[in-house]
Amino acid sequence: MTDQNPIIVWFRQDLRVSDNPAFMAAADSGRPVIPVYILDDDTPGDWMPGGAARWWLHHSLAVLGETLESMGASLVLRRGNAKTGIADLVNECDAAGVYWNRCYEPFAIARDKEIKASLIDAEVDTRSFNGSLLHEPWTIEKKAGGFYKVYTRYWHACRDKGEPAPPIDAPDKIFSGAGTITSDDLNDWELLPTKPDWAQGFRDRWVPGEHGAQKRLDTFLDEAAEKYIDQRNLPAVLGTSNLSPFLHTGDISPRQIWQRTIDKLGWTSQTEAFLKEIVWREFAYHVFYYLPDLPEKPMNPKFASFPWVDDNDALKAWQSGMTGYPMVDAGMRELWHTGHMHNRVRMIVGSFLVKHLLLPWQDGEAWFWDTLVDADLAVNAFSWQWIGGCGADAAPYFRIFNPITQGEKFDADGEYVRKYVPEIAGLPNKYLFSPWEAPADVLRDASVALGDTYPEPIIAHKAGRERALEAFKSLPKAEAN
Ligand SMILES: Cc1cc2nc3c(=O)[nH]c(=O)nc-3n(C[C@H](O)[C@H](O)[C@H](O)COP(=O)(O)OP(=O)(O)OC[C@H]3O[C@@H](n4cnc5c(N)ncnc54)[C@H](O)[C@@H]3O)c2cc1C
Repeated sequence: MTDQNPIIVWFRQDLRVSDNPAFMAAADSGRPVIPVYILDDDTPGDWMPGGAARWWLHHSLAVLGETLESMGASLVLRRGNAKTGIADLVNECDAAGVYWNRCYEPFAIARDKEIKASLIDAEVDTRSFNGSLLHEPWTIEKKAGGFYKVYTRYWHACRDKGEPAPPIDAPDKIFSGAGTITSDDLNDWELLPTKPDWAQGFRDRWVPGEHGAQKRLDTFLDEAAEKYIDQRNLPAVLGTSNLSPFLHTGDISPRQIWQRTIDKLGWTSQTEAFLKEIVWREFAYHVFYYLPDLPEKPMNPKFASFPWVDDNDALKAWQSGMTGYPMVDAGMRELWHTGHMHNRVRMIVGSFLVKHLLLPWQDGEAWFWDTLVDADLAVNAFSWQWIGGCGADAAPYFRIFNPITQGEKFDADGEYVRKYVPEIAGLPNKYLFSPWEAPADVLRDASVALGDTYPEPIIAHKAGRERALEAFKSLPKAEAN
């Protein structure tokens, strides 16, 4: 082995060159660097990335490839099981080391442990780093031991640790080591939709990749962060950061967000409210680490016997934004068109699915998994359990969001609903969230024919609510949150 044997940097959910500890360590080694991404659809089983996340991944990888090219290195793309992929690459280039930033899904942890053990056996320098979290799940512990299930306590425990580590810059220079190593062509991976091309709305809304992430953060800090508390619940306003897909892919790191927010605006009630959301993401990772079956099994075990219904027509109506509840339908259509949905609306559509329609939260989780550009196993599973009333610090099952008053409160001018449900745009605000209550002449004037141009409500609000409460009562008392 000479100092010309390269270091492989295995990029995963850290598709950036700045604040990337594995990449920096490889650059610092003084050895040639081979950046690699492996599309491993084998290891995650049922949880391989869905369609919307694959769209994002394509663009994010394209940007990373260009950035690395500008630094004099070529991104090597491989497809298949990462265990074999890494072993092959190490042999092909006689690598001195393999560095990566850690992932936290149980299947990724198991795979990475195996890879690490076999690389160490082969005397390959193997190092892993924290590139995706302010605090890794196991570094925050209750004093009496064990993990946190209540967010406020978790938040205080994080704050007690002091300020998170500052982000690091991109390396000034790297020595390229790819030489004759072959790479797949990104376009051959077919991560983008072909026919039908459902991604026009995605292209209109998003600029994935590291530069896009930095720009999005700047715009948020310039235009919305100081009004975060007042605007974060208004889906018609760009009042939140929209950084979730960038965070999921690792186009940006939470350390970069944390530091830039504080440097630019200081610690105020507004910035604290925003940074607390970044820490909700960490809380989801914390809980998921200790409960690896979170995506499948309710945290509260008695919910395993909850009398969910099996109603494919209702599920289809929900998925396609045709429930007859404008606020729910607007959310589901925003999701389909843009790959994203405002957090307030995620709560409204989620509650509607599990409570009004009595469909299992896992059905909602699966649909979000396929359609969200920010689909993240920890946060999605955690959030659906929260909605279902069975998760950590969850909304109690008996608290049922009213999709009509939620709309009146958070979309008072109807701008959001009119954008995504244009067929009822002519209704006055008074009836916009409950068109079935509009008198016949009002419907006629607005060119709305219920059951024809827009659906009748799939279930009456009151009946849905009562059915949900009855179902909840069937759970043994002690377990009912
Ligand atoms: C049913 C349901 C499913 C969800 N699925 C996902 C998912 O798959 N991936 C995902 O990233 N978020 C998910 N969320 C959380 C939240 O809706 C999104 O993170 C948020 O809407 C992203 O918008 P933003 O970046 O503008 O958020 P901001 O308000 O700007 O918040 C900043 C960041 O904090 C984190 N964050 C914000 N809200 C939450 C939250 N409630 N829980 C955990 N982290 C949060 C995100 O990383 C977000 O980018 C889900 C929420 C619900 C109710």
